[in-house]
Amino acid sequence: MGTNDKQLSELITSSASALAAKLAATEVSSEEVTQAHLDRIAEVDGGERGVHAFLHVNTEEALGVAREVDAIRAAGGDDAAALHPLAGVPIAIKDLIVTKGQPTTAGSRILEGWMSPYDATVIKKIRAAKLPILGKTNLDEFAMGSSTEHSAFGPTRNPWDLDRIPGGSGGGSAAAVAAFEAPLALGTDTGGSIRQPGAVTGTVGVKPTYGAVSRYGAIAMASSLDQIGPVSRTVLDAALLQELVGGHDPYDSTSLTDSFDTLAAAARAGAAGSLEGLRIGVVKELGGEGYQAGVEARFRDALELLKGAGAQVVEVSCPNFKYALGAYYLIMPSEVSSNLAKFDGVRYGLRVLPQDGPMTIERVMAATRAAGFGDEAKRRIILGTYALSAGYYDAYYGSAQKVRTLIQRDFDAAFAQTDVLISPTAPTTAFPLGEKLDDPLAMYLNDVATIPANLAGVPGLSLPSGLADEDGLPAGLQILAPAREDARLYRVGAALEALLEAQWGGPLLAKAPALGARANVGQSAETNAGVK
Ligand code: GLN
Repeated sequence: MGTNDKQLSELITSSASALAAKLAATEVSSEEVTQAHLDRIAEVDGGERGVHAFLHVNTEEALGVAREVDAIRAAGGDDAAALHPLAGVPIAIKDLIVTKGQPTTAGSRILEGWMSPYDATVIKKIRAAKLPILGKTNLDEFAMGSSTEHSAFGPTRNPWDLDRIPGGSGGGSAAAVAAFEAPLALGTDTGGSIRQPGAVTGTVGVKPTYGAVSRYGAIAMASSLDQIGPVSRTVLDAALLQELVGGHDPYDSTSLTDSFDTLAAAARAGAAGSLEGLRIGVVKELGGEGYQAGVEARFRDALELLKGAGAQVVEVSCPNFKYALGAYYLIMPSEVSSNLAKFDGVRYGLRVLPQDGPMTIERVMAATRAAGFGDEAKRRIILGTYALSAGYYDAYYGSAQKVRTLIQRDFDAAFAQTDVLISPTAPTTAFPLGEKLDDPLAMYLNDVATIPANLAGVPGLSLPSGLADEDGLPAGLQILAPAREDARLYRVGAALEALLEAQWGGPLLAKAPALGARANVGQSAETNAGVK
């Protein structure tokens, strides 16, 4: 590798906070950093065996913003001093979040070609802070799935092994960050779509407290569960990004008025501090049968590290968590069936006219929806419509809502004895593309550990726990905290991350094959030897 290559690789492998420091010290320009990521995208994202994290690359606008930041810094003075700490650090956006001037597809044919007339609140904040937006990332259609294979535009590949899934629904954002195509990304998490992709790609993902980040401009899947959150390579980076995009928003009626402005400070304190006196609850129901041995082994190793740092680890039982998946697959489709009714061939995107017969509004709608929605979206719309129909409402939707309350009570009881809860994020490492595509129930089981947090509105953070022995692929663990205690997640997450990285001798992703040249992406066996 020549000096230039080395320089390039540091520009794309640095954490967002490290890049921010280099930008502030004018050691690098935002244009260089942004261009390096665009080059990386051009190198690894396209083609038949490309990562395919991006559905749209926003080259000109991203470079324009980068140059603007550089000019402000060069001019110095008050404007330079007022720049946001992340100004000039590029970011990728899950294509469920609306952006003016760039397409937003939600991974669906029904929105192909549609341009949002407005920016989501999180995008307004990102633009105000001058982070160059690299583009829009791939997802399962309308965020429904755990593998990105339900995208109408083809799957994303896992940078650790191109024949495997990157998780879902936000596989594009996670893969972009894991493959060094972006230092930061935004995702959305309705049942695990930030945390499970994080786990299977060796990245960090956070679902904030429900209401901590505005949902205005996130295309709704299930409004009572949806939450926008950060995707990154370090816990501190996630904290910085949540601080930037979070906060009260009058455009979102469920937005909290709390300020979440101590998250980065909490992450910094955690990385430096001890865990003496912290009470950690291991949720008995989130482990055991169905969890891969290597995922459990890395989880147990992490518990030992936490104990070594002074934390008290106790087992807690949340008996109603076993009904969480069942309740979610009634509540979520019910809300989906209502939220997706607006895609009718009249207001947005695609319009398909019936081939023959009368040209009525109902028939245009039916033809558009038949052609525009994929199988998974149709499955959930039908399921939700059924669950909400008059004769069944109490039996299905009503019961599921009662279970939701029981799950909230389980959390309350568990948090009465502990400060945080902990579990594996996903039951397995990344599975091969295609393996679960025809088996919806097997696909749904990926979220068995992440869904309780969405049902209760509590925040969850996933970080890499190591490489599972069986396949040398990354596993993840999640930390859960009471609602509004997001700062606690970042403190404990950063502490654990520091302990794990001391053991690994650096970040887990440094061992990832994606660090290498395109030809090496996916060859994991040798590079990963000895790393756990
Ligand atoms: N994988 C889950 C589902 O298919 C979660 C999706 C999400 O969080 N957006 O519903």
